[in-house]
Amino acid sequence: MKKIGFIGLGNMGLPMSKNLIESNFSVYGSDLNKAAEAQFEQAGGIIGFSAAQMIGVCDVIFTSLPSSDAVKEIYLRQGGLVDSSQPGILLIDTSTVAPEINQTIEEAALSKGIDFLAAPVSGGVIGAVNRTLTFMVGGPKLAFERSLPILNELGANIFHVSEQIDSGTATKLINNLLIGFYTAGVAEALTLAKQSNLDLEKLFDMLNVSYGQSRIYERNYKSFIANDDYAPGFSLKLLRKDLGFALGLAEKQQLDLPISKMLFALYEEAEKSGYGEKDMSVLYQKISGKTNA
Ligand code: NAD
Repeated sequence: MKKIGFIGLGNMGLPMSKNLIESNFSVYGSDLNKAAEAQFEQAGGIIGFSAAQMIGVCDVIFTSLPSSDAVKEIYLRQGGLVDSSQPGILLIDTSTVAPEINQTIEEAALSKGIDFLAAPVSGGVIGAVNRTLTFMVGGPKLAFERSLPILNELGANIFHVSEQIDSGTATKLINNLLIGFYTAGVAEALTLAKQSNLDLEKLFDMLNVSYGQSRIYERNYKSFIANDDYAPGFSLKLLRKDLGFALGLAEKQQLDLPISKMLFALYEEAEKSGYGEKDMSVLYQKISGKTNA
C-alpha cells in the first residue's frame, strides 16, 4: 500500500487527506495547528513526523499551504522536502502560489532528480470533501501519470495543463480572477436588490434561469449570504492573495488590467477592515454596510 505524506491540514488539506485515509492509503500528516493534527489523527492519520522524516517513509508527499512563503519554507529550507528527498519520491504542491515559486522549486527538484508537480485545485471545501475537485497540473507528463491514481481519489476533473511547471498555476489564477469578479458582482448586485426591496430567494430562483446566473452566485448566496454565516470556505485573504498573483502575472506580460487592479484594491481594503479570515462571500456584508466583521 502506498504511503502518502500531507503537509498542511487546513480547510482543504484536512478533507483531502481524510479521503486518502478512507481510500486505504497510509497517510502521514503535519500542520502547525495542533487542533488540525488532532482531527487528522482521529480520522486514522499518522502524526509526529517532520517533513524530512516523511521523506524517509512516504512515496508521495502533498502540500496544501496558505502562502508562497510557507511553500518556499517547506520545500526549500535546509532539511526541507527537496533537501531531504531521494530520486523516486513524488512531491505535489496543491497550494496556489506565485508562479515563480513553482519554477524555483522545480529547479531545485530537478537538480536532485526528484519529480515535482505544481497542481493547484478548484472546487473549494465542498469539492475537497466530495472528491469533486478540479486539478490543474503543470509538470513532466511522466510524473503526472504517476500522480493520476492518487489524484483520481481526490478529484473528478484532473487536467495536465502542460509540461511547463507553472501552467496549472496560471490557469488557476485566471480562474480565481474570475471568482474575484463574480464575488464582487454578486455583492454589489445583491446589495442593490436588497435596497430595492426585492426578495433575495425569489431573485435567486429567477436569475438562476437567466443570464445573471453563475456558480459563484449560487455558492456565495446559497451557502453563505442566505444564512448570514461566513465561516470559510475560501477565506477573503486567500482570494486577495491570488488576485495579487494574477496581477503579477499580468505585469510580467506588460499587460495593464485596470478593472482587476480596482478589484484587488477592493479586497485589500476589505481585508484591512477585518474581513480577511471570513469566506470571500463576506464582501456582500461589507458592501451592504453591515458592521459585525
Ligand atoms: P488554510 O489556511 O485553511 O490551511 C492551511 C494550513 O496550513 C493551516 O492549517 C496552517 O496551519 C498550515 N500551515 C501553514 N504553514 C505551515 C507549515 N510551515 N507547516 C505545516 N502546516 C502549515 O488554507 P486552505 O483554505 O486549506 O488553502 C490551502 C491552499 O489551497 C491555499 O494555497 C489556497 O489558496 C488553496 N485553495 C483553497 C481553496 C478553498 O476553498 N479554501 C480552494 C482552492 C485552493
